[in-house]
Amino acid sequence: EKGYSGDDPYVSERERMVELQIERRGVKDPRVLEAMRRVPRHMFVGEQLKNQAYEDHPLPIGEGQTISQPYIVALMTEALNLKGSEKVLEIGTGSGYQTAVLAELCREVFTIERIASLAYRARKTLESLGYKNIKYKIGDGTLGWPEEAPFDGIIVTAAAPKVPQPLIDQLAMGARLVIPVGDRISQELLLVERVPEGIRKTSLGGVRFVDLVGKWGWREE
Ligand code: SAM
Repeated sequence: EKGYSGDDPYVSERERMVELQIERRGVKDPRVLEAMRRVPRHMFVGEQLKNQAYEDHPLPIGEGQTISQPYIVALMTEALNLKGSEKVLEIGTGSGYQTAVLAELCREVFTIERIASLAYRARKTLESLGYKNIKYKIGDGTLGWPEEAPFDGIIVTAAAPKVPQPLIDQLAMGARLVIPVGDRISQELLLVERVPEGIRKTSLGGVRFVDLVGKWGWREE
């Protein structure tokens, strides 16, 4: 049994979140919905924000970063089309919430965060919840994780000016990459698939993310 099971005062709030924010907006994959029902989102935010953890918006997690809106987490996860046996790379561990959702749905998650303090806290949270199928790295995720490539899915939870080439190169045949691409105000959520003919790109709609900072992202200010 993967993941969390314990006393949880937020079960009904989480049910409501899944029904009203996620199912009602069209996310259908039953495995994704089940994962969103299981992962205790309130454990990934600070004490003073726990009572807002299931609201329909992002929340601050320190260092100028955010935990993404629940619907966006579900939408991006569904786009990866995970069946359970995959090896997935995540860029931008942040709070670790999206990492937990992925860990519920695939074989192994490799997650990279550039801000060490966030990476340590996320790891502590995820380990305390019992997740064992996650590998952690601190560094520039725009370079991917070449030693572990290829991946069956890659998810980038920060906004890039363009799709980083190393991430395209680290996709297995048939694998999917989900990434927000655009300027620093707003972006398009792109689904990039490696197909025999090359690369296929589909837009999943408009989003707003914090910057992806790195060699293949934005420059550090
Ligand atoms: N998925 C996270 C969650 O559920 O809490 C939200 C992530 S937050 C919107 C984006 C994260 O990407 C931030 O923590 C930021 O520090 C990180 N980040 C930005 N550029 C990065 C890079 N090049 N490599 C790794 N992490 C990066």
